[in-house]
Amino acid sequence: MTTEKIKQKKGQIGVSADDIFPLIKKFLYTDQEIFLRELISNAVDATTKLKTLASKGEFKGELGDLTIDVKLDEKNKTISVIDRGIGMTEEEVIKYLNQVAFSSAQEFLEKYSGENIIGHFGLGFYSAFMVAEKVEVRTKSYKDDAKAVKWVCDGSPEYTLEEIDKESRGTEIILHVGEEGKDYLSKNRIQELLDKYCKFLPIPIRFGTKTEYKTEGEGDDAKQIEEEVDNIINNPNPLWKKSPNELKDEDYKEFYRELFPGTFNDPVFWIHLKMDYPFNLTGILYFPKVTNNFDIQKSKIHLYSNQVFITDDVRAIVPEFLMLLHGVIDSPDIPLNVSRSSLQNDQRVKKITSYITKKVAEKLKGIFKKDRKEFENKWDDISTFVKYGMITEEKFYDKALDFVLLKNEEGKYFTFEEYKEKIKANQVDKHDKTVIIYTSDVKAQHSYIQSAKNYGYDVVVMDNIIDVHFMQHMETKDGSITFVRVDSDTVDNLVQKDEKKESVMSEKQQEKVKTIFTESLKGENNTIEMKALSPDDLPVVITKPEFMRRFKEMQQYQSMGMGDLPESYNIIINSNNPLIADKLVKMKSQEKKEKFATYLYKLAKLNQNMLTGEEMTDFVKTSVEFLK
Ligand code: ADP
Repeated sequence: MTTEKIKQKKGQIGVSADDIFPLIKKFLYTDQEIFLRELISNAVDATTKLKTLASKGEFKGELGDLTIDVKLDEKNKTISVIDRGIGMTEEEVIKYLNQVAFSSAQEFLEKYSGENIIGHFGLGFYSAFMVAEKVEVRTKSYKDDAKAVKWVCDGSPEYTLEEIDKESRGTEIILHVGEEGKDYLSKNRIQELLDKYCKFLPIPIRFGTKTEYKTEGEGDDAKQIEEEVDNIINNPNPLWKKSPNELKDEDYKEFYRELFPGTFNDPVFWIHLKMDYPFNLTGILYFPKVTNNFDIQKSKIHLYSNQVFITDDVRAIVPEFLMLLHGVIDSPDIPLNVSRSSLQNDQRVKKITSYITKKVAEKLKGIFKKDRKEFENKWDDISTFVKYGMITEEKFYDKALDFVLLKNEEGKYFTFEEYKEKIKANQVDKHDKTVIIYTSDVKAQHSYIQSAKNYGYDVVVMDNIIDVHFMQHMETKDGSITFVRVDSDTVDNLVQKDEKKESVMSEKQQEKVKTIFTESLKGENNTIEMKALSPDDLPVVITKPEFMRRFKEMQQYQSMGMGDLPESYNIIINSNNPLIADKLVKMKSQEKKEKFATYLYKLAKLNQNMLTGEEMTDFVKTSVEFLK
């Protein structure tokens, strides 16, 4: 004990509201766990500051080992964060902990309470009181002759400050955990928090030790040895901070696994973001394989600020379609103390958003131009993403038009420009629209695809969940194209032209045949129509008009399958097929005619995958009879 040592001082924290602690606790309750991140960030800041001072020559002492320690003492119910950073003098403790930190916490609460906050920066130190009933700070400044001090506060606006003996430079924050924080007095829980928030902090952080197993020796002599090593919980030098030209593909893939442990698929490709001006932003965005049942709600983009994890809810910062990407964005320039709605209107955030969108489009275009084959190989994995982006983000639409691809049923890929050129000879209708014929299910619509191909048409595959919307969007944006599904009309009518095909049957004969069908298909609400198709086309064809079908699909999509509209389709009788023009008309008895007509109708249904249950059983039975 030295005589100069200051006597214990008591004081009052300089705020008027003594109810600030209950407020902090209540307000931050849901995000209580951030206390550890805040304290460790402060420790990291203090350490980084010391390193900066040393590099400028303003600190001449030994830096020593700067590892930050996080300690848990379950028995004494304490959690401590210990750094070897710049520390604080007595004056600084009074200034920063009593005045600045507290008043900023108060201001913060007054300003934002009740709003939805991203992260809780600025609250910093005082978040400790969410879990602690008493906070003890033991600190010694790096400055020459600085005296170590201890500050203790039990959560009321009163504190004590006294001089202590402390050899080592830096700050030790000891939380005496109270009832509200007792869940954190567990090794697993702390480890979990460290993994979540501190995984990429720039200063090594140690949480006790861990056991590692090593094999020593070789062959028969090999033996496993156990070793207690420091449990360093972070990677202080994450990939996104490195320069892209130092990195190999394997580095990016490995980092992807580090970010998302337990992911099996490699990412399709990635973008390394680096920007200094007009704002600072780094990061890596990965394109995962996107399957049909994509889940855009669950964001896999993590937002960091100077390597401190803030949130994985980046909806305000990243355009919705980019939420399909995985990765990290690190930007100290994203304002964090504001509500989400004001974030979206923030000019900086707008710039960040459009920068990311632009980068993503450029990357895709780059691959497309440099290596078309590779781009095509990856197209199926990224098409959902690109289409979704085009639908939801105008700026992306404009750029993506250069590389969005159509895949035809033969597996060849075309840009819209190329495709329009390819089909212009015979897929332009009487209104001058280029008709893109598509299938939504290559297997189920097989015979329709064959007919279209025999007719000289090309068929593209649009079987993704997003395609219904995508086609609609493309039609709205580009008035010169229209999409029709391969089974939406008879093949001659898919591309509407003015030519009419001659029928081998007279008007009168056709009338008679139509009556036979109307009679046989009583109770059938769908329209029946005679039409002169090619003799090779089926005798009866079922088509599902594009408009009605789309309407229904949209309705289904919006009401999530509830309130189904009845299926509506057209029944077309091919007056040029010999089974109609020859066989049916020549049949003697009315009964036979009707039975045959019903059979042909069922055949058409079978071709549309519409025959099930009892109808199917009857159909098979009748077929057997016919074969006898
Ligand atoms: P912020 O970190 O946002 O400035 P805090 O309330 O977390 O606000 O901290 C208030 C101030 O206390 C810090 O700005 C810093 O000057 C000081 N401080 C907090 N923790 C430490 C520490 N571990 N070492 C040195 N100074 C610290």
